[in-house]
Amino acid sequence: MRPLRVVFVFLCLAAGLSAKYAAAATCSADKLGVARTLVLSTKGGFEVGFKSYPQSLDLADHEVVLTFDDGPSPKTTPAVLAALGKECVKATFFLIGRNAAANPALVRREVAEGHTIGNHTYSHPILRLLTEAAARADIDKGFAADEKAARQPTSFFRFPGFADTPALRAWLKSRDIGIFGADLWASDWLTMTPDEERELVLERLRKAGRGILLLHDTKQSTAAMLPALLRDLKTGGFKIVHIVPGDAKPVFRKAPSGWTSETEAILAKVLRTRAAKRTNPAAAHLPE
Ligand SMILES: [Zn+2]
Repeated sequence: MRPLRVVFVFLCLAAGLSAKYAAAATCSADKLGVARTLVLSTKGGFEVGFKSYPQSLDLADHEVVLTFDDGPSPKTTPAVLAALGKECVKATFFLIGRNAAANPALVRREVAEGHTIGNHTYSHPILRLLTEAAARADIDKGFAADEKAARQPTSFFRFPGFADTPALRAWLKSRDIGIFGADLWASDWLTMTPDEERELVLERLRKAGRGILLLHDTKQSTAAMLPALLRDLKTGGFKIVHIVPGDAKPVFRKAPSGWTSETEAILAKVLRTRAAKRTNPAAAHLPE
């Protein structure tokens, strides 16, 4: 080997090693990190998230599961991944199939960086407004597109707008799919400044004390406020729980007596408005 090439190879090796140690060093105790990994078997299916269902994951006080819907987007997802990476945090991305098909490298980056992938349909329709066959087809196409981009299977699913139906829930359960609603959300489908969004999330988290948090990695305000939010979670004593599919039977936390579905009330209102005005329900601030 010529001397110059020897030097080049040595420098590359040194750079690789230092990058490896630098990555380990940056995940120090002052970072938010992952407090625990929660393995969830989806065998037989389940539904979690108090906004829609009377049970959620059995999280301890101050434990938070971060979930991001509707991506990936080349405009905003890289910033979200960078913010998560900087704090050594793992999240779950519920992908829209057509976005995964258009941005497979971003999906592979999510997987490579240790995040969990779930499906959020192929084209983000309000499934309740489709025929059963059309709804199933969009979900199936979404799983296929997400899994092709991720190069791995997924058994996690979230309904767009939380607009489930009893028939679709039963069908997903028969296919061993875990259905995720949310315990709280950022309302980032509304126009807000990053600081307003961050303060709203923190206020809701302090009030709820724990929960599955819904965010959107497609929203500029979310991407912009995420670094500061993760710092706030650290200083506020919140702990990140990373959910992954696996073999452990899930443990659920039941809703207090008097529970009602918040999303059902929103959907009823939005769909009534749509019927009256013949407008697109997505325009009426349905949770996305
Ligand atoms: Zn969505």
